[in-house]
Amino acid sequence: QYNEMSNSEKDRLCDGLNFQLTLDRFNQQRSRSTTLKRIATSEGQRFGENSDDEYINGQWQNNNNQRRQQLSSNTDKNDRNISNGNSLQISKHALNYASEYHYAPFKLECHPKLIDKKQGQKLIMNLIKSIKSDFITQNPKFNKIILFDLWWIDSNGDLQIIIKTTELYVYLCKTERYPKELNGIKIIPHHPSHLPPQHTVIIKWVHHSISNDDIKEVLNSKYESIFSIGEMIGSINDKTRHVKIELLSKNEYNSLLNGGKISLFGHLFDVDEFLPAPKVFICGRCNQPGHTKKTCCNSSYDLCRRCGGDRTNSEQHKDCQIKCHHCGGEHVSTDYKCKLIDNYRRQLIDELKKHRERLPPDTHLFIPSEYRSQNDKSKSIYNHEVYEY
Ligand SMILES: [Zn+2]
Ligand SMILES: [Zn+2]
Ligand SMILES: [Zn+2]
Repeated sequence: QYNEMSNSEKDRLCDGLNFQLTLDRFNQQRSRSTTLKRIATSEGQRFGENSDDEYINGQWQNNNNQRRQQLSSNTDKNDRNISNGNSLQISKHALNYASEYHYAPFKLECHPKLIDKKQGQKLIMNLIKSIKSDFITQNPKFNKIILFDLWWIDSNGDLQIIIKTTELYVYLCKTERYPKELNGIKIIPHHPSHLPPQHTVIIKWVHHSISNDDIKEVLNSKYESIFSIGEMIGSINDKTRHVKIELLSKNEYNSLLNGGKISLFGHLFDVDEFLPAPKVFICGRCNQPGHTKKTCCNSSYDLCRRCGGDRTNSEQHKDCQIKCHHCGGEHVSTDYKCKLIDNYRRQLIDELKKHRERLPPDTHLFIPSEYRSQNDKSKSIYNHEVYEY
């Protein structure tokens, strides 16, 4: 959605500060130093900056050996071309990007449509007011101030909201928790279709003879808060797949996870945490990892991911030959089969391992097996100092 934002919409991005100050007036009894931590000052900038860049989401399952062998045989002879892979800088931005969960926006469809920022401000404030007491009842341990990280009015006059607080995000993923009307404006909520990883478990190696609906039926008899059930991308083989289960209730999440196993139709299956892999962003101009188009010094025009040529006239690049311009291999240049991307990802993960203290408190990342080292075989990383689960 951000990519499609017009400049005027970007300008209307309501900076967290403005809203924070208004909110502070409502919360004068609270100390300013704690409330300031929640300001999303850099967000507008970040979304704008990344607009032409893409990220590669780590695949979850192991690479199969055959592919890795092919990869090493055709990259060995090309190693010289891409030796600069080792000198790519891992920026702080890249580290943050890798470890941060990426939040889908909540949309509040408004009737009549919103025309100015003040209306939005009032609506947001009253929304928080109206959910507050039920939210606290549902989350008795929650001790922060209830607020949204970012909001703006989109080109349709609807309200878009980014929420990074897991409890609030999950709470608002239930339509009946929204008021039907605020300030005389009818609102129709559209919440994201997935819950954050902290509310997702996976059931592993489930045979195809057991369908997602079958699983739903079994789980529904024990768990009330199931939000969605779906296949895990990249986990499907001839016989089995991993199934992702999202639960609204943290208690039910813990109880399903702590069992370690689940019985489905007489078979026992492993239950595990769902851990996202670190993400890598790739420049939309030169297709190299680690920086954005805005700061790119490698090219003055966009390079085609398929053939490496000038992409200014995109019509000419619909059927061009796929030959990676980083290594000469037969893949598009943003494919993470590419040795250049692979090297970068390895360095990024090493850096994250060395600086666990930089990880946000609520993050737990998966390390794909090919990036684990001889002396550190751990399958995940998290910030030891703040991790609570
Ligand atoms: Zn670049
Ligand atoms: Zn091309
Ligand atoms: Zn390549």
